Amino acid sequence: MHFQVLSSGSKGNSSLVRAGEVRLLIDAGLTARAMTERLEAARVSAKAIHHIALSHGHLDHARSAGILSKRNEQLTVHCAERLMKNKSLARARRLSTLRIGSPQTLSDFEGRDPLELQSVQIPHDADPTVAFRIEHEGRRLVVLTDMGHPDRRSLAPLADPHVLLLEFNHDEAMIEVGPYPPALRRRILGDGGHLSNTQSAEALEQLAGPNLHTLILAHLSEHNNTPELARSVAESKLAELGLTDVRVLIASQTEIGENLEV
Ligand SMILES: [Zn+2]
Ligand SMILES: [Zn+2]
Repeated sequence: MHFQVLSSGSKGNSSLVRAGEVRLLIDAGLTARAMTERLEAARVSAKAIHHIALSHGHLDHARSAGILSKRNEQLTVHCAERLMKNKSLARARRLSTLRIGSPQTLSDFEGRDPLELQSVQIPHDADPTVAFRIEHEGRRLVVLTDMGHPDRRSLAPLADPHVLLLEFNHDEAMIEVGPYPPALRRRILGDGGHLSNTQSAEALEQLAGPNLHTLILAHLSEHNNTPELARSVAESKLAELGLTDVRVLIASQTEIGENLEV
């Protein structure tokens, strides 16, 4: 299984999973045009995507899911029941209900190369919001962003992946002096907002296990965080856990990431 971030941050999130013949997008938060460009950069045609799984309905995750589905009649959008009335999904042709908490099998159009997709509900101010655990031929990938606080119960079923994409949204000190108005600051810092670097490190402690080889820091705030700060918090937590061989990468808003072997 391969994993490649196409975009990460408040202007749009999406990543690509390739498992055998199956091509799955986790979120489609850029415009359809930008999604197509990023997919081309990753050498995949938008028409060749079999599935899109949506973590939640915020536009930076769901923006073009409907239009991509309209242009590719074989593509299935998997999302929570409540999201199906979302405007961004109005044009979707094939919608499938995400059964939150129970594993689902996804294959290509011919039923080949099944992978297991498990959605796990996490606290965030779009109800429901899920993180994903994807398993294929014994390899595990976890994609987790937009979490209000590092809730242990939600994290337990996501533990010990080989590759982990984890939100490192903001630095608490930077957000206090940053440009955000008080209401937005309260939202981000609240229990239904986003993980701070410190909270992400707490989540990392729950999630990291002996199999982890690559950690991708994601959804970094442009104004209230820096890649250096996020990286130093992540690396000291990994060192504390004795996981010094783990590669740490930063997901970018503006360009696609490396195509990683999970
Ligand atoms: Zn988001
Ligand atoms: Zn969100």
